[in-house]
Amino acid sequence: TTRVILSKRPEGLPSDDNFTIEKAPVPEPAEGEVVVATKYISLDPAMRGWMRDAPSYVPPVGIGEVMRAGGVGEVIASRHPKFSVGDHVNGLLGVQTVACVPGDGLHAVDPSLAPLSAYLGVLGMPGITAYFGLLEVGALAEGDTVLVSGAAGAVGSIVGQIAKIKGARAVGIAGGPDKCRHLVDELGFDAAIDYKNEDVAARIKATCPDRVNVYFDNVGGEILNAALTRLATGARVVICGAISQYNNLEEVKGPSNYMTLLVRRARMEGFIVFDYAERYGEAFRDMGGWLTTGKLRYRETVVEGIEQFTDAFAKLFSGDKLGKLVLKVSD
Ligand code: NDP
Repeated sequence: TTRVILSKRPEGLPSDDNFTIEKAPVPEPAEGEVVVATKYISLDPAMRGWMRDAPSYVPPVGIGEVMRAGGVGEVIASRHPKFSVGDHVNGLLGVQTVACVPGDGLHAVDPSLAPLSAYLGVLGMPGITAYFGLLEVGALAEGDTVLVSGAAGAVGSIVGQIAKIKGARAVGIAGGPDKCRHLVDELGFDAAIDYKNEDVAARIKATCPDRVNVYFDNVGGEILNAALTRLATGARVVICGAISQYNNLEEVKGPSNYMTLLVRRARMEGFIVFDYAERYGEAFRDMGGWLTTGKLRYRETVVEGIEQFTDAFAKLFSGDKLGKLVLKVSD
């Protein structure tokens, strides 16, 4: 197997200095283990957090360990009763071309229902995050105005579309005119705000005349601050992520205008998608249906070759991609 090892903890944006790529023999599976030939590796902003030596909802990746990542692939050997050679599975396979992992952590996926890579995006962790984040944490109601940042990304693009499906207005914030056009013309958002070229606060005011009932935040920082100024009474602010802060070398600054929460009787709540593990089936059922009927669309950006890992990962922070970012490592 070819694998990417975390060799040094990054400060700021991770680079090739932080990883080594090595070849290693594939171990024989022990009882309960499964050997998987990886096809696609998921590149997620959360991985930046896993590189940090700090307490979080999962332990950090250790120095000298294979970088943790979700992935999909095909079973090539199995000593687990649930999986046979030829099955396709989704799970934490790590950044490696062949993974030997406990079968209990894997889920079977069906490549005849959707392309394998979709199980890392719309039918995977990002899609489920959008679903429960908006409907449960955001307590979406028909007629609401939903504002979502990181709107052209894996999670944000689904948030806006679910909002529309449920009879709400959707306004997205994304970087650049092309992404903004994509949101409105292809994904059916009501409006889009280009945070790289427009005055975000002024554009929120213009595009959300009845204020914002749900702000789904993927980016944090200044954009969160701008969104807080336009909350409607009883608004819900869903803290899904804060990608603008992940490579920060300074201390994260709090939103200076959080007092709008008081004035607007609003609440701000964080969540982790894994909290909904027992209810993933509900999300799959709804999202699968919406995909089949064409109500839900998705894009992905595929980078080929495991040796491209660091450059590909950096696209999450430069925004040089559309929709879900994946690394393809074999056919
Ligand atoms: P995306 O596909 O959205 O990729 C990241 C995007 O963030 C980029 O494309 C870029 O888009 C935008 N971005 C990067 N830097 C900045 C910045 N400084 N300011 C504003 N936008 C920026 O990633 P995901 O959809 O996978 O994840 C979105 C968020 O959701 C992340 O914060 C992630 O950590 C979080 N998350 C949380 C989960 C949970 O359980 N709570 C689960 C899964 C994800 P652009 O071109 O528009 O700048």
